[in-house]
Amino acid sequence: MSKVRVRFAPSPTGGLHLGGVRTVLFNYLFAKKHGGDFIVRIEDTDQTRFVPGAEEYIFNCLKWCGLVPDESPVHGGPYAPYRQSERKSLYKEYALQLVKDGHAYYAFDTPEELESMREKLKATGSSSLQYDHHIRMNMNNSLRLLPEETQELLDKNTPYVIRIKVNPNEFIPFTDMIRGEMEFDTNNVDDKVLLKADGMPTYHLAVVVDDYLMKITHAFRGEEWLPSAPVHILLWKYLFGLDDMPHWAHLPLILKPDGNGKLSKRDGDRLGFPVYAMDWKDVTTNEITKGFKEIGFLPEAFINLLAVLGWNDGTEQEIFSMEELIEKFSIERVHKGGAKFDFEKAKWFNHEWIKKLEVGSLLPEVKRILTEKGIIITDDNYLKEVIALIKDRCTLIPDFYTQASFFFEAPKSFDVDAVKPKWNEDKKKFFIEWQSRLSDIADWNTLAIEESFKQLAAEKNIKPGELQLPFRIMLVGGKFGPAVFQIAFLIGKAATISRIATASEIFG
Ligand code: GLU
Repeated sequence: MSKVRVRFAPSPTGGLHLGGVRTVLFNYLFAKKHGGDFIVRIEDTDQTRFVPGAEEYIFNCLKWCGLVPDESPVHGGPYAPYRQSERKSLYKEYALQLVKDGHAYYAFDTPEELESMREKLKATGSSSLQYDHHIRMNMNNSLRLLPEETQELLDKNTPYVIRIKVNPNEFIPFTDMIRGEMEFDTNNVDDKVLLKADGMPTYHLAVVVDDYLMKITHAFRGEEWLPSAPVHILLWKYLFGLDDMPHWAHLPLILKPDGNGKLSKRDGDRLGFPVYAMDWKDVTTNEITKGFKEIGFLPEAFINLLAVLGWNDGTEQEIFSMEELIEKFSIERVHKGGAKFDFEKAKWFNHEWIKKLEVGSLLPEVKRILTEKGIIITDDNYLKEVIALIKDRCTLIPDFYTQASFFFEAPKSFDVDAVKPKWNEDKKKFFIEWQSRLSDIADWNTLAIEESFKQLAAEKNIKPGELQLPFRIMLVGGKFGPAVFQIAFLIGKAATISRIATASEIFG
């Protein structure tokens, strides 16, 4: 078998939907598993949909996810250029070849003529308004015109498009790596435009020509492209022969949480979760759509949760690293049906990955989030100890701020209501006396603090359990955080004593 070559072929038109990242991931895993190449080709032939910054954004998302292309407009490669707009001059000869072979034709119809065709079709109650074998012999194209009429129009530089000529009443057999054997009825396929009036190819022509020229062996893309597959297969057959055609797989949709249709950006806005990999700023409205990265997902978790949206390895295993995915992935195990997106489950993956990752791997992100909130980190080792203590309590990266801030600064407020009902003179005295006992501890460590606490509680005949909550609130400000004596140990003697003093005043 020739070397596996797969491609992700996005049109740079906006934010990168998680379904798009999953498409990249499945391509990438397949390539890496088979020692192949992963190519990113930018499909920007539709200049009306061009969005500045969208291409750079896609590459930033791939970088964050750790899905590094082997070839792309940014990474270069032997089949450059990888941007279809830069390959414009290449496509026309293929369109002309198709015309010459009788598989395509010139169509000179003006927008008004096309509109009137649709109006007529509507008036006759036709279920389809497509430009196809039913109507093409009534239109202004080289199939209906005499050759010399066509030539005259061409000589006069009359604007034209080139359309594929789809023969009716044929069945196109097709094997999809996920769906198995399929068949398309050409009666449902319209004469798609291949080359536009401005000389740009449409997606249909460009995708086939480039997959051929770039020696793509496998093409995995979203299920929404399945209806276009017959056109692509016909083009392969007419231009290059089916032997070299890539193996196709159409990936199932990612569905709304209730399973009712494709998950859209609007669903995310409505239900309060992101659908884009990273923050996307709309250049016309300046509106920012939140991304998984910015709300605090780890790339490892994002990749993991996408991998299992529609795939499993046949066991109960849910947590996979990229290396494991590369080893275990197989396209045949991707499900045919759509996969429901569950944001709570997505967060569960992030929580598991925070638990799983080494403190050192979490350090840069946690440091960034704390610094952003105004906490100055002077000692990475101290921060590492803090992270080790709190990481199991964090689901999203910003949780590290809530769980860690009191290790760096005294609480700004205290949950007095949680202490007040059981606060009394005895407890107040306990904490006053304990401050001096604490200052006498020579070797400040968790055990020494706890022993001194228990010792004094016993002397005062107060249950230690009754004193722990007020102590926690003194140090942390609220009813949360890891083991309280460990907190005291980490923040140090001076801070512990000063927080006890401040809070005791407030508790009254
Ligand atoms: N340019 C298409 C897109 O935007 C690519 C579809 C394909 O992979 O063939 O999704």
